[in-house]
Amino acid sequence: MKIIAATNNRGKLMEIEEITSGLGVRVSSLSDEGIKIDVEETGKTFEENALIKARAVYEITRTPVLADDSGLCVDALSGAPGVYTARYAGEGASDDANISKLLSAMRDADEENRTARFVCALAYIDESGREHVYRGECEGVITFEKKGTGGMGYDPVFYYPPYKMTFAECSHEMKNAVSHRSAALKKFFDDMKIK
Ligand code: IMP
Repeated sequence: MKIIAATNNRGKLMEIEEITSGLGVRVSSLSDEGIKIDVEETGKTFEENALIKARAVYEITRTPVLADDSGLCVDALSGAPGVYTARYAGEGASDDANISKLLSAMRDADEENRTARFVCALAYIDESGREHVYRGECEGVITFEKKGTGGMGYDPVFYYPPYKMTFAECSHEMKNAVSHRSAALKKFFDDMKIK
């Protein structure tokens, strides 16, 4: 089965490919399909934004499409950056700029008040145009400084307590076993098996 993943984010695509490998699913990216679209994420929730992206691609391809919208919700910041995670330090901001802004917003938060979660909403539009939405979350703690060089985005400042390390310090396999993205993908695959 071929699914188009509605993303241009290499880190996300790599993780989706790793998590779905061995499941008989071929994940094709927007660039594999020669699709050039830049969808404005105007939704107020991760779910709304994932659906906006999935619908935009389905309109063009009319084949099954999977879109992901994800981000980081920090308790001490009342859930921010939330749906603004990618553009926290401004439109087109680098990961480094986003992380610097986050660490500076968190400078007065002590150890106990640094809890956060990664959230991933997946929107899937099937061959008949029906929409399905799945959500995965992963709980962690924001560090005081960057640690590790692996992963993507905010991984260097996302400490995962059961591993006693940040997502940028652990292997891909370790992150994929517990991440918000794999939690949402597991729900998606479980649902597909039932039908
Ligand atoms: P989106 O492309 O609008 O979904 O933006 C996602 C934002 O959340 C980007 O800034 C990503 O770097 C960040 N993000 C999503 N998932 C992860 C993750 O697994 N690790 C680190 N950052 C992530």
